[in-house]
Parts: sequence; C-alpha cells; structure tokens
Amino acid sequence: MKDPMSRHNWDELTHVMRNMLQCSKEFLRDFTKRCQEIDNLLIDISTEKEMLNWLPPVREPVIRVDALGDGHFGAPRGYRLHRGTDYIVTPGDPVFMTLKGAKVKRVTRPYADYDELTGVVVVNEHCLNVLYYVTPIEDLIGKGVPQGEVIGYAQDVRVKYGPKMLPHIHSEKYIK
Ligand SMILES: [Zn+2]
Repeated sequence: MKDPMSRHNWDELTHVMRNMLQCSKEFLRDFTKRCQEIDNLLIDISTEKEMLNWLPPVREPVIRVDALGDGHFGAPRGYRLHRGTDYIVTPGDPVFMTLKGAKVKRVTRPYADYDELTGVVVVNEHCLNVLYYVTPIEDLIGKGVPQGEVIGYAQDVRVKYGPKMLPHIHSEKYIK
C-alpha cells in the first residue's frame, strides 16, 4: 500500500500550492489594477458632477439595462459606444431641469427620419445637456428654468424599438 505522505505526494502538493500561489498573485495584481481603475472613474464622476452641479432628469435615477442594450455611458453599441446615459421611466413621468442657472434652449430630434420621438436641449453658462425621448413644455422654450423644475414629460421609446426595450430617457452632457 502507498504511504499517503510519500515523497512523491509532497512534491506534487508543493507543485500544486506553488501554482495556486502564482494564480493568487496574478489575481491580486488584476484586482488591484481594477480597483485603481474604479477609483479613477469615481474621481472623474465626482469631478464632473461637481463641475456641472448636475441633477438627474428623473426622480429616481435607475440606469436602463435590457435585452436590447446597456444604458451606461460608454456601453457598446455595435461599432460605436453609447454617448449618453439612459434612465428608466414610466412614459408620462415628469422630466426635470438638470442644470443650475440654465434655460430650455430648443427642441431637438434624435432621428432625422422619425418625428414621433423628440428631445430637449438645456444650457447654462458652461455646459449643455441633451435629453432625448422627452416632450418639452412648449411655453418654457427659450426661458430660464430653476434646477429641479419640470421641463417636460417622458415619451415611450417602444413606439420605435418595440416591447423589448425599457422606456427610458437618454441624457448626453457636454462642456461648452
Ligand atoms: Zn441611450
């Protein structure tokens, strides 16, 4: 009968443990790198938020993720990246002024060949925020609106994309 702690077994065990140690070290290196990346992103986000004094356009901001796509900024869209952030809504929900000291500049259209969905552009001294799938309140166009006030109402993107897409509004932020 083989001795369970024969020299052969000890060598094998040492070999396995060395491999495990190596894997753990690599994992830790990757993990630390990833933590650093997340840390940097958080710094970017907080700086941007600070700079814009930006408030979300919906009451409870939840980012859309559904069968047709991921609504996070930078998420893949075929050969391009998603340039904005998608917030889930119930069609008809109020949409709020995101910028401080801003006005409702104009109505915009996300699709040149499709009139049913519209958007609104809001601007202040330093930045610009485009909100798609929003019916703006007509009377406010060209006027200053305090941050957090209602500027329009959420539309239903399902009229174009079908029932697999969660209704949402799309927000793109730019520094002037
Ligand atoms: Zn979007």
